[in-house]
Amino acid sequence: MKIAVLAGDGIGPEIVEQALRVLKVLRDEGLAMEFIEAPLGGQAYDAYGSPYPEFTQKICHEADAVLLGAVGGPQYDQLDRPLRPERGLLAIRKDLGLFANLRPAVLFPELANASTLKPEVVAGLDIMIVRELTGDVYFGQPRGMRVNDKGEREGFNTMIYSESEVRRIAHVAFGIAMKRGKKLCSVDKANVLETTEFWKEIVIDVGREYPEVELSHMYVDNAAMQLIRNPKQFDVIVTGNIFGDILSDEASMLTGSIGMLASASLNETKKGLYEPSHGSAPDIAGKNLANPLATIMSAAMMLRYSFGLEAAAGRIENAVKKVLASGYRTADIYEPGTKKLTCSEMGDQVVAAM
Ligand code: NAD
Repeated sequence: MKIAVLAGDGIGPEIVEQALRVLKVLRDEGLAMEFIEAPLGGQAYDAYGSPYPEFTQKICHEADAVLLGAVGGPQYDQLDRPLRPERGLLAIRKDLGLFANLRPAVLFPELANASTLKPEVVAGLDIMIVRELTGDVYFGQPRGMRVNDKGEREGFNTMIYSESEVRRIAHVAFGIAMKRGKKLCSVDKANVLETTEFWKEIVIDVGREYPEVELSHMYVDNAAMQLIRNPKQFDVIVTGNIFGDILSDEASMLTGSIGMLASASLNETKKGLYEPSHGSAPDIAGKNLANPLATIMSAAMMLRYSFGLEAAAGRIENAVKKVLASGYRTADIYEPGTKKLTCSEMGDQVVAAM
C-alpha cells in the first residue's frame, strides 16, 4: 500500500504525525505500508510557488491513497487566488477525480455533553453525508468578477450538474445506504434552482435500481433545520457540492467538535483522499493542542475504503472509543472530570489502546 502523506499547513503536521504513528503500529505488525511525504497548500507554495506542484501531483498519482492534514493560513490570504492553499485542495480533488465526499457524523456516547444540542437529541447519532465534490457552483464555468452592461461591478458563478455527474454520486450514496439503514435523503432546492430540480429527477431514476432503499427528498433550507431539530431521522444524505459543504459542517457540530470528524473522498477506482473535516486551525497551530482523532479516524476510513481492511479499520476506531471511554480528551472536547491531553499525548493513548 503506497500512501501519499500531505501534512499541509497549520495543525496539519501535528495531527498527521499522530495518524502515522497509529498506522505504523499496523505496519510494524506486518501490514505492508509505504509512506511518501509531499507538500500541499501554503507549505507547497513556499517551497515550489504552487499550492499543488507537479512533484506532489506525481506522488499522488502513483499512490494508492492520500492522507491529508489541512491547508491554509492567514499569511496566504493576500496571494492571488490561483496560488492560495485552498486552490491546492480543489486542484487535487479535481486531478484525482475525487467526486464522492463521505462525511460521517457519529456521536460517541461519551461526548454527548459536548454537543450544543440536548443529549437526548443527539445521543447515538450516526449520519453519513455524501457530498458531490467536483462539480456544482464551485467548478462551474463561467465564473468571475466583471463590469456589466450598466457599468456596475458584479460577481458571478455557474451552478451546473451533468447527468453522469449526478448518476455516479447517486450510485455511491445508494450503495452506502444499502450497507447501512437503507434510508437515503436527497437534498436539493428544486423549487427554485433548475440544476437541483434536474438533480432530483436523476436521483429518482437511479433509485429504481435500489428498490430496497427508502428514498426521500428535502429542500436544503428544511434539511438545515431538521439537522438541528431531529438529526436522528437521517441515515444517509446525498447532496451537491455547495449544500454538502454547509450541511456537513452543520452536522459536524452536532457531534460537539469538528476535531472528531473524519472524511473520505473517493474516485471511480478505490483511490481516495482521507482528511479530517476541519481546517488548519491557525489559532492553535504549533501549540500541540489540536485534536488528532479526526485524522486518526480518517486513516481508519482509508484502510476500509481504499484497501478493504475492515478489521484493521475497526481496530483503530475501537482504540479511539476506548481512549474516550477512559476519559481522555483534548482541549476542544474537554469537560470537567475528564483528563485533558495534548495532541501528542492523545496519539500516545490511541497507540497504547491499539
Ligand atoms: P478551522 O476548521 O481551521 O477552525 C475552526 C475552529 O475549530 C478554530 O477555532 C480551530 O481552532 C478549531 N479546530 C479545528 N480543528 C481542530 C482540531 N483538530 N482540534 C481542535 N480544534 C480544532 O476553520 P477556519 O478557522 O475557518 O479556517 C482556518 C484555515 O483553514 C483557513 O485558511 C481555511 O481556508 C482553511 N481550511 C482548510 C480546510 C482543509 O484543509 N480541508 C478546510 C476548512 C478550512
